[in-house]
Amino acid sequence: MLITPEEALSYLNAGDVVALPTETVYGLAASIAHPEAIKKIYALKGRPSNNPLIVHLASVSQLQQYTKALPPHTENLITQFWPGPLSIVLDAHGIPEEATGGLATAAFRVPALPITQNIIAAAGPLVMPSANLSGKPSGTSPQDLFDDFGDDLPVIDGGERPGGIESTVIHYLDGEWRIIRLGAISAEQLSKVLGYLPLFAATTQDQPTCPGQLYRHYAPKARLQLQKSFSNETGVLIGFSDRRYPSTLELIAVGTTETPYTVGENLYATLRECDRRGLTNVWVDIDLPEGGLWETIKERINKAASHG
Ligand code: AMP
Ligand code: MG
Repeated sequence: MLITPEEALSYLNAGDVVALPTETVYGLAASIAHPEAIKKIYALKGRPSNNPLIVHLASVSQLQQYTKALPPHTENLITQFWPGPLSIVLDAHGIPEEATGGLATAAFRVPALPITQNIIAAAGPLVMPSANLSGKPSGTSPQDLFDDFGDDLPVIDGGERPGGIESTVIHYLDGEWRIIRLGAISAEQLSKVLGYLPLFAATTQDQPTCPGQLYRHYAPKARLQLQKSFSNETGVLIGFSDRRYPSTLELIAVGTTETPYTVGENLYATLRECDRRGLTNVWVDIDLPEGGLWETIKERINKAASHG
């Protein structure tokens, strides 16, 4: 059901979970003052309890209460990218262990959408994972959330497709900033502040830098088949409106090869559309340009296609 910001505040203060839009995707929110509400998020999503949640703040001033030492460049990164889709992993104090997955750190960010910022200012910090059943594409419209969690979930309507792609998560490891989850802010954008291009620190079982990366993600029910060229395939193809494909394929265009932000906005909605249509097999054009947000889009498509 759709609710007002005032209703959202009462739910959060009463220890309930609500869904809020952000400039990236919708989130399932709980107050950090209500550990029982945080547990409800894990239960609702079917999320493994060792996969920590991002702490969302209303402003930078709330940060000093939860963390002590800031690694080099943290203040510059905050000045440049907050409010916005950059989650920064820092030493954390006073964040309930229900949210941190038992780690001594937490990922923090200030989201940019005013409606959600105002709710956080009134409710205090909120933990918010993406609003989707674990493993499915992130929710980018109220209907996606009702599909996953039922019509009774309280949702603030932020419209369809906020920004599409989740925040970039970074961590200061071995003397330099590393990207531990690719996202809406690109490595190139970060390099302008850092003076070096931050590397991607892939998560492995031995090196669980970003626990969530160990799990399946973003996947529709349909089997996604990724190819760089098409000749005589039939069925549905997720591709680009500025490319030519064989007429045997029905094109669902996610944007053009010149518009990564539009592609980012449309990607999850398109994957969910495939499920609504009951498709079992979908082709995807993976011949993407290099760099910037395309690297994130490539990673999302690869994950969505992996049924491991
Ligand atoms: P989501 O909540 O779905 O947007 O995903 C948040 C991502 O941030 C997950 O992949 C988490 O594993 C990751 N994350 C959150 N907190 C931390 C942390 N303290 N250290 C490393 N990764 C984190
Ligand atoms: Mg998620």
